[in-house]
Amino acid sequence: MATKVGDWYHYSGAVHIHTSESDGTKPLEEVVALGCEVGLDFMMFSDHMGLTNRDAGLEGIYGETLVVIGYEHNDHEDKNHYLIFDSPGVYPSRLYAREYVAAARADGALGIIAHPIEKRSRSGKYPPYPWTEWNTDDYDGLELWNQMSEWMERLTPYNKLAMAFSPRKSMIGPHPEALQLWDRVSRQRKCVGLAGVDAHAFPVSVGLFTVEIFPYKVHFRSLRTHVLLAEPMSNDFKTARDQLYEALRECRVYFSNTRWGSADGFDFRATQDGCSVVCGGSLDSHEGAMITVELPARATIIVMCDGEEVHRVASRQLKFAVEKPGLYRVEVWRGKRGWIFSNHVRIGI
Ligand SMILES: [Zn+2]
Ligand SMILES: [Zn+2]
Repeated sequence: MATKVGDWYHYSGAVHIHTSESDGTKPLEEVVALGCEVGLDFMMFSDHMGLTNRDAGLEGIYGETLVVIGYEHNDHEDKNHYLIFDSPGVYPSRLYAREYVAAARADGALGIIAHPIEKRSRSGKYPPYPWTEWNTDDYDGLELWNQMSEWMERLTPYNKLAMAFSPRKSMIGPHPEALQLWDRVSRQRKCVGLAGVDAHAFPVSVGLFTVEIFPYKVHFRSLRTHVLLAEPMSNDFKTARDQLYEALRECRVYFSNTRWGSADGFDFRATQDGCSVVCGGSLDSHEGAMITVELPARATIIVMCDGEEVHRVASRQLKFAVEKPGLYRVEVWRGKRGWIFSNHVRIGI
């Protein structure tokens, strides 16, 4: 269900979901049913190197939930994972990363670099799949927070049990290096930042037990990507799909860990002379510009400008007079845990 904040309709969903078409554990229809139960407004599927579910006509609106199907492309070394939506088909597996990123751009598809910074030293069974091809500028976005990556990265033989039984609590925030990279790239051009659940629901053995670490439902109650639409999401599938993709391309996006509370009611905008812009928007100058934030609950709000913290307050709201031009975004933390992260507003640059 949409939340209306000011003139904008906010929708939240899960990005980067696997099914049994690749290495997930349930068929798409069953995963969709779980997403509907949890109340996701949209679900973005991305199985490895295949669009069988899309070709079978499984995209659509299920109840109140929009379901779109892309896929996750990898290179022949199984690196450089790229989430591609809205492409005419699956690109050839012989392509190098630079080539499939360019092909997706040429076709007007939406391409998001999955888990761009992934480091795992300990777990030989699950090697890291980092992005290594930075000699390209054709991607549309970065998955700044990947649930599986963060979980695997924090895993040690000592915390395995606790991490297995409280997987959502163990999440801290987007990868700091990914945030830095995103702030740099976004100075030059639009680049959407979002959170991916990377849901597989596969079992992991913990001592004597085998635990399904992240059942799909747990994923769907954790990292959410939120989009802002000017109109309510359409009941017509193609129109709704285009609304979703457009919001992502335009960076009208924030993302949250709902473990720390629903982000419904979150509002971040920059205002000047009575006109206001939201994430993805821009103001021509910083003269007289104000940044305002409203939260559903009290937390620590941090204002970032060009990757540096410029203001911090613990409150339910914030009013901040902009003193210099730059690329602004906000982070909201509950204690040491990341809760809500906005995309950028461009002010005077
Ligand atoms: Zn991947
Ligand atoms: Zn994946």
